[in-house]
Amino acid sequence: MMMENLTWDEFKEVKERIDTVVIPIGSIEAHGKHLPLNTDVLAPVEIAKRVEKKLQEIGKDVLIAPPVNYGHTFVLNVYPGTINVRAETLRAYVRDIIEEFATEGFKRIILLNGHGGNVYPLVEAAEDAAEKFEDIEVWLINWWIDFREDILSICSSQGHAGEDETSVILAIKPELVKMGKAVGEKRAYGVRKIKKNIGLELFPEGVNDNPRGATREKGEAILEIVSEKIMRLILEELR
Ligand SMILES: [Zn+2]
Repeated sequence: MMMENLTWDEFKEVKERIDTVVIPIGSIEAHGKHLPLNTDVLAPVEIAKRVEKKLQEIGKDVLIAPPVNYGHTFVLNVYPGTINVRAETLRAYVRDIIEEFATEGFKRIILLNGHGGNVYPLVEAAEDAAEKFEDIEVWLINWWIDFREDILSICSSQGHAGEDETSVILAIKPELVKMGKAVGEKRAYGVRKIKKNIGLELFPEGVNDNPRGATREKGEAILEIVSEKIMRLILEELR
């Protein structure tokens, strides 16, 4: 059930029978010269829709909330088009959203995250809300981390604007992918180094993986396994 299409009285009726809401959370940021700026929004929104479709096929449903488009993206902020929201702002903003859904009566609030820089602010937002509302549970799903093993059984590598992410966007919106410009390589330090403009070293051109091996078929396979596994996790909990 897509919340954005409902009127308030329809929403009122829906929340009487649905107790789980999925909130896709992304980032507007550089993803190389081959992927769109909203890559991290497109992926979790698509996964949420597929989870919903699978649940509906067996007579169950969740509410899908409109996405949080902007995220915390310190590292990529050296590239044009990256719109960074400070961690404390994202934490407070998402906390308020979680608490509003809790007040509406939702018991299971699933943050379906598409971006690495969001992870810590989202954990803190969830903890803030859980502190206040004892009867809710917040799930934080980081699709590329939680299902890494499955993804690496499909792709030879994984990374920002890399083989996995590029494959996923090829499956969702192939018309937005410029494979002719897809270049990059894996880069890492042994420890996490934080300094201004580190994105230029760690994410040259906004990429940190080799995207050349990306295909639409791999993207389809990733979306399928990730949405299937999330659907099963939710199904175990649904009334
Ligand atoms: Zn991304």
